Amino acid sequence: MIIDTHAHLDFPEYKSDLESVLSRAKDADVGCIINVGTSINSSEKSVTLANRFNNIYASIGIHPHDASKVSVENWQILERLVKDQKVVAIGETGLDYYRNRSPHEDQQRIFHKHLALAKANNLPVIIHSRDASDDCLRILDKHKNGTLKGVVHCFSGTKETAKKCIELGLYISFAGPITFSNADKLREVAKSVPIERLLLETDSPFLSPQPKRGERNEPSYLSFIIPVLADIYGLSVNDIKRITTFNAYKLFGIGEHEHEGKIAYAIRNSLYINLTNRCSNACSFCMRETYPIVKGHHLGLKREPTADEVLKAIGDPSGYDEVVFCGYGEPTERLDVLITVARYLKSKGKRIRLDTNGHGDLINGRSIISELKGLIDTICISLNAETAEKYEEICKPVFEKKAYPALIQFIKDSKQVIPNVLVSIVDIPGVDVEKCKKIAEELGVDFRVRKYNVLG
Ligand code: SF4
Repeated sequence: MIIDTHAHLDFPEYKSDLESVLSRAKDADVGCIINVGTSINSSEKSVTLANRFNNIYASIGIHPHDASKVSVENWQILERLVKDQKVVAIGETGLDYYRNRSPHEDQQRIFHKHLALAKANNLPVIIHSRDASDDCLRILDKHKNGTLKGVVHCFSGTKETAKKCIELGLYISFAGPITFSNADKLREVAKSVPIERLLLETDSPFLSPQPKRGERNEPSYLSFIIPVLADIYGLSVNDIKRITTFNAYKLFGIGEHEHEGKIAYAIRNSLYINLTNRCSNACSFCMRETYPIVKGHHLGLKREPTADEVLKAIGDPSGYDEVVFCGYGEPTERLDVLITVARYLKSKGKRIRLDTNGHGDLINGRSIISELKGLIDTICISLNAETAEKYEEICKPVFEKKAYPALIQFIKDSKQVIPNVLVSIVDIPGVDVEKCKKIAEELGVDFRVRKYNVLG
């Protein structure tokens, strides 16, 4: 299921065939649509539409073009509409210095009012910003305390502006222009936006994506935008669908989401196995306890699965390039299950990777590497620091001083038995990347730097 977070289906363009548009949206897996008001009239129509169709939700607001015309009565109507249960956002509001249809002072004053209304009702705000980034960011910054949340829709700014929006806690969505052949710059900007802050939108009836450019847009045309985003992020179409749907749920509280941890989950064309949430480390950058979501998958297990349950969750593994023991916890905490499942996968000819903190020997009270021989093709061991002291500071291992030497020994042992060995660090401040790289070189294994906050 996917969510079009910005459409104007109340516009006259859909007067004669709205039902067909919605039917095509359903066929294209668009499960929810947020219909965004641009005036009092269109906000009222949005609420009416939302109450007519289960899968439509409403956003109410007055476009900056009309800021100079907003009356006290208009505002009272918005304050009444906001109480409707299908209203999930305020907007679109913001600043438009491209068309300049209202004086800047009026646009700014009304933008402030929308932000205050959104915060007072604990709703996200849908922001329109065109050629007005500096003023827009300045106003948003004034409102950043408290419950400011929202999305900058149809983003057309720079990487720097995107970064500031992200720092303010906002989401970003790209409409049809991301698909245009001359939009390389915009695609570069999109690449800089964390996938956890990305939303889908069409801005129907405007800005149809390629190959429908110039025609009336509609929610089903998300199917032309998603593959472009998948390409930008190096993910699959399903990944983009799942992640953006989860993001929309987080921001607007609509649509489907997972409630409990998955045992097996796909990212790109790899299948990941989540055996446990236990770990002998408590790394400062780990979000295992607080936010067990990776690329839209919920990984917080209610209980640890048996080997049979893992095999059932895997099903037919033939379609995957690789199976990875990873999850949100240390897989060697469950060595017996890991080995049973790996044996099955090997019997099916699968390539297997183990992501580990390298504490397997300490956890199991014996050297375990020989037990992994012939089962694991690639092992990725988290080095995380260039000294034992720093490792203890960052990873807070339960094995304390024993942890780092044991981890180094585990890398050496892996080198003797496992075909591909690599060590990784996370690029957090204070870690000496060059020294870590040198350790990897001396141990004769590959080295990788993982981005902080980028999982999966
Ligand atoms: S080793 Fe991995 S799972 Fe364990 S605390 Fe560190 S980041 Fe989290």
